[in-house]
Amino acid sequence: MSNTVNTEKLALFGGGKTIQTAFKAYNSIGIEEVEAAKQVVESGVLSKFLGCWSPDFYGGSKVQEFERQCEAYFGVKHAVTVNSWTSGLIAAVGAIGIEPGDEVIVTPWTMCASATAILHWNAIPVFADIEPETFNLDPASVEANITPYTKAIMAVDIFGHSADMDALMAIAERHGLKVITDSAQAPGTYYKGKVTGTLADVGGYSLNYHKHIHTGEGGILVTNDDEFAEHLRLIRNHAEAVVSGKGSTDLRNMVGYNFRLGEVECAIGIEQLKKLDGFVASRQRAAERLSKELSGLPGLRVPIVKKDCTHAYYVYPMVLDSERLGVSRSRIIEALEAEGVIGLSAGYMNIHLLPMYQQKIAYGSKGFPWSSDICRREVSYRKGICPVAERLHDFTYLGFAMCMHELTDDDVDLIGRAFRKVWDQMEGLK
Ligand SMILES: *Cc1c(COP(=O)(O)O)cnc(C)c1O
Repeated sequence: MSNTVNTEKLALFGGGKTIQTAFKAYNSIGIEEVEAAKQVVESGVLSKFLGCWSPDFYGGSKVQEFERQCEAYFGVKHAVTVNSWTSGLIAAVGAIGIEPGDEVIVTPWTMCASATAILHWNAIPVFADIEPETFNLDPASVEANITPYTKAIMAVDIFGHSADMDALMAIAERHGLKVITDSAQAPGTYYKGKVTGTLADVGGYSLNYHKHIHTGEGGILVTNDDEFAEHLRLIRNHAEAVVSGKGSTDLRNMVGYNFRLGEVECAIGIEQLKKLDGFVASRQRAAERLSKELSGLPGLRVPIVKKDCTHAYYVYPMVLDSERLGVSRSRIIEALEAEGVIGLSAGYMNIHLLPMYQQKIAYGSKGFPWSSDICRREVSYRKGICPVAERLHDFTYLGFAMCMHELTDDDVDLIGRAFRKVWDQMEGLK
């Protein structure tokens, strides 16, 4: 970090922009994916699934190949592909045997689908607070939210850093709960030397266009449990039509879907998975360089990576000390954006504050499931139940969408320069 104070006029006040040209957009797709997709298209068999009990119940050769490759890469017994990670989350909640009215503890800092998947089985999402370092579920808050009706925990590895799995699994063990992990943003990372996403009963990753690797839309479920794996495959492919032919006796949560991922997507996924480590490494390099550039700035906290963990930096998460800075977050973002830094966001999410939870209207218009007998207590979604998450969202959290661009060292240096210029002239923003 340079020690000279930058006194050039801020772009916000008409000075020159620090970042003159747009960074290269992130694109994980190359000639390998084109060739792989072409071969499948030319074969004419774009999906081989059959929604009845037959060898094709498990999908075609690319589905099989991609799933076996995922099993090897993630080091799990079973990988099950699905047509989106939202579908994967729904299948996961069903497969662990959730009953209507069961409570599942979930983080408010996630994409809405993590919580909606719970409601999908008429179970009740209960929001626990997050820890300020990684923005993931705070184990103490999880424990405080356990009731006699709690059946599971849905942890999310938000922004690319694993949740505190040792603590969460210990809580689950003590209370007899199942655990699902949503690692949509964290494939290719490690938690205490273990593969993020594989430490719960069921976990998985998103393959949508915006994630580290993608197949357009798609998802990968992972589990080491044979029964959960088979249940996931049933829910993926019309369970109710398959169970009698298959001879299944366990008929819990037998509402099935078409959550199947096609042959083209799986052929692309096979190539994408080979590149995942490289993509994650390049984001880690950019993030570590950026953290070096920014770490001396007063009132700015760069991302924290816990001991023996790695971060995929889907988002590069920062925290502002607005009181110390004496300037509001929105004013700082305005100044940084004027310098050409794009992809900044003030706050993230507080899922519990969405209208669906505030008004408790999910299915129909009469408040189901909360107003029905299956919901056995009054569950609160009022503002104030997750004070850490709410304060970060409302005032102090500053995200940088690292996933949007392929950042070179020079790009990172320019971002660092833009931040330092704004910080050097913070007085002028007051
Ligand atoms: C992207 C994302 C999802 C949803 O994945 P889709 O593949 O788009 O359905 C769920 N949870 C988190 C944390 C995500 O980032």
